[in-house]
Amino acid sequence: MKEKMYLSTRGNQKPLNFYEAILQGIGSDGGLLVPDFDIEKKDLKSLQNLNYVDMATEVISAFTPDDVKEDIRQLCQQAYGDGLFPNEVVPVEKAGDTYIAELFQGPTAAFKDMALSILPRFMTFSLKQKGEERDVMILAATSGDTGKAALEGFKDVEGTCIKVFYPVDGVAPVQKQQMVTQDGNNVEVIGIHGNFDDAQTAVKKAFNSQELKQLCNEHHVFLSSANSINIGRLIPQIVYYFYSYMTLVNQKEIELGEEVNFTIPSGNFGNCLAGYIAKNMGLPIQKFIVASNKNNILTDFFNTGRYDARRDFYKTNAPAMDILVSSNLERLVYFLCKDSSKVKEYMDSLNETGVYEVDQEVFGVVQEYFKAGWLNEEDVLKTIKECYEENGYLLDTHTAIGYGVYKQYKQNSHDDTKTIILSTASPYKFPKSVFTALTGEDLDEYEAIDALNQKTNIPVSKPLVGIKDRQVLHTKVIDKTEIVDFIGEQIKGMSL
Ligand SMILES: *Cc1c(COP(=O)(O)O)cnc(C)c1O
Repeated sequence: MKEKMYLSTRGNQKPLNFYEAILQGIGSDGGLLVPDFDIEKKDLKSLQNLNYVDMATEVISAFTPDDVKEDIRQLCQQAYGDGLFPNEVVPVEKAGDTYIAELFQGPTAAFKDMALSILPRFMTFSLKQKGEERDVMILAATSGDTGKAALEGFKDVEGTCIKVFYPVDGVAPVQKQQMVTQDGNNVEVIGIHGNFDDAQTAVKKAFNSQELKQLCNEHHVFLSSANSINIGRLIPQIVYYFYSYMTLVNQKEIELGEEVNFTIPSGNFGNCLAGYIAKNMGLPIQKFIVASNKNNILTDFFNTGRYDARRDFYKTNAPAMDILVSSNLERLVYFLCKDSSKVKEYMDSLNETGVYEVDQEVFGVVQEYFKAGWLNEEDVLKTIKECYEENGYLLDTHTAIGYGVYKQYKQNSHDDTKTIILSTASPYKFPKSVFTALTGEDLDEYEAIDALNQKTNIPVSKPLVGIKDRQVLHTKVIDKTEIVDFIGEQIKGMSL
């Protein structure tokens, strides 16, 4: 059988197998890696009664070499079956006329755990399969949640070290506290003066720097990424689309084969893109409702076909979605046009002028499957209060954006297709905003955790219990312009 290979969205990357794609993280031409094979269509009936580990094995092995399915099962077992997550890995709750798939039950109480609990295992497995002897330095830029989930996933993993860059004034206090208190002998957390886009751009630059490549060779190291530019982040995210759908089938909320909508609070667009791949693998999804905050560049793109980054950047109460350069949109555009020269043209235009516009053909498909909307900060708070009062269900600020945008969509479209909202964080990660939403009162972040718990009786997410009193281990802060040089120094420090 032909080996499954991966190519770059921008066309100038020799084909890589799964292991190479995971380890390399990004195309050598600056593009993102995508499957260059027809992704297997799944027989829905055969997936209906699988537990999370078995579902993950079925879905993920559609992307890996054919002879390692049992190894993949083992990795899935370690990630999802051995206690990092509760028994129900992704509970699906009902709130009013919607279903909420809780993706935040993992070790850091954020949806990033869905992928980052298994990505490090893909990496060590790939190192082994390739007989790779160099160490890998993982770089991650974070708007808050990726950082902690990646640190937790990679800490003390042999053959790896990890550097996380976060905007020092651009993440929520609980997120920051989670990161700067991270233990592990191979981890480092660095604040930057700049925003998430600055961090992400610098990290992408590091991957393409000839100077750093040279240094890496000299020091027997290579760089890889824990951001959703790594295809190893994307693949595990396809699983919960199938899983939450089958949960509704098994609860007799929908018939097997019935179409549903998904609403996705979006930033870098990895979550939504995973859903688009699930659809292409045969999951009956009618529409994706892409929800944004005031940084509503995706809303504009899905409504006009024009991606225009020449706009102000806002810090909002849903900081994990404060993003203007939504990396994974590049993969969607590639899937829609299958023309890497066109993608390269768009991305060059984005880099040079800050804007690109897809052609009518691509935009037609976009409009058919994607709807988009956004919520301002005040409406985020209103939505949290409304949903709690009407349904007794407590949303975090990001999920509230999904919920509110879905309500808008339903009102305007009269589409009453059953809809699953992906919940991306525990309300206890953003306790201050959530408490203000419910009561109008303004408390300190940590007071708000206890007050919220007392008011709602909803248990505090386990990873956040006692967070305030943990010891701060990382205090370094650098300027955004120093990131690439800093990485260079770190590589030099790795020689044994
Ligand atoms: C990362 C994140 C998002 C955005 O997800 P993307 O895959 O980047 O679109 C939304 N909400 C929360 C809480 C997140 O951590």
